[in-house]
Amino acid sequence: MKALVAVKRVVDYNVKVRVKADGSNVDIDNVKMSMNPFDEIAVEEAVRLKEAGKVTEIVAVSVGVAKAEEVLRTALAMGADRAILIEDTATTEPLTVAKLLKAVVDKEQPDLIFLGKQAIDNDANQTGQMLAALLNAGQGTFAGKVEIGAGEVEVTREIDGGLEKVALKLPAVITADLRLNEPRFVKLPNIMQAKKKPLEKTTPADLGVNTAPRITVTQYAEPKKRSAGIKVDSVAALVDKLKNEAKVI
Ligand code: AMP
Repeated sequence: MKALVAVKRVVDYNVKVRVKADGSNVDIDNVKMSMNPFDEIAVEEAVRLKEAGKVTEIVAVSVGVAKAEEVLRTALAMGADRAILIEDTATTEPLTVAKLLKAVVDKEQPDLIFLGKQAIDNDANQTGQMLAALLNAGQGTFAGKVEIGAGEVEVTREIDGGLEKVALKLPAVITADLRLNEPRFVKLPNIMQAKKKPLEKTTPADLGVNTAPRITVTQYAEPKKRSAGIKVDSVAALVDKLKNEAKVI
């Protein structure tokens, strides 16, 4: 069984993102970039399935600038066998990424297609769903557990107020949620080994996908600054302020 995992290079989750002065974008110059955390979970799940003898090959794929190679090397160090970088310099929106991933899926014919549930930079939560629709494949989104059956995969989904189990025919699209697993810490020897693993580069043009944007972001803005809080001495003072200053009661 072959698994494909989509990994995106995003601003590291520890970085406080700043908006450019003209509001045209967020400033990512000299900012630490890493693999999208949900994609790390997706890679980990594929690697665990390989270690359990259920998956035989893992292909990691990323769409992005040349430096996205770094997140592919991380995926290789975690245990992916080979990687494909679809080089694209423009910021790529979910539908375009889904089309590019579909082109790779058509070529690679994986049984399991793992993505993160969402990219922490745009918070779109769209790519997996769009990819499943384009492939006319089943989708197990917000996966908290993945079990392989005969010719199918069972995905336990994290939904509001509980869990839902779906059985999907293969090939299937699975998007990883936070509790699916805890990704491994990558050790130095694995990083060294990963440098020797194959990484193929391609372009949207090679894959026959038009990347012309359909969405225009008109403005980015910082959230409004909140004024500092104060301490009050008594419940009466609190009620008075809520009534007469905040005017909320
Ligand atoms: P989104 O729909 O943008 O929130 O992204 C959901 C998931 O799609 C991510 O967690 C990735 O697995 C995948 N994805 C999105 N953009 C890219 C990209 N540029 N390259 C590779 N995978 C991506």
